[in-house]
Amino acid sequence: MSLTAEEQNNLLNNLRAKWTNSNCLRCNSNNWIVQGVVQQYLASTKDRGNGIGGEFLPTGVLICRTCGSTELVNLVVAGIVKGGQ
Ligand SMILES: [Zn+2]
Repeated sequence: MSLTAEEQNNLLNNLRAKWTNSNCLRCNSNNWIVQGVVQQYLASTKDRGNGIGGEFLPTGVLICRTCGSTELVNLVVAGIVKGGQ
């Protein structure tokens, strides 16, 4: 799954609106890019064990263009993809 250019822009705009400080924690610049591919992490649950049958966590990757620091953001919470089953 990939994010469209519009979804990437929406993600950056949503985060800048929600984060109290959207500057990079490492270099204090505000020069983020979004990697277009959605990372899918498997949640390990007590009921389902590790990996198999667990829930997927759609995750966006933001990279600071200045220093390369990388942030992971849950795309459901950020309002970019819908959650649920
Ligand atoms: Zn940085």
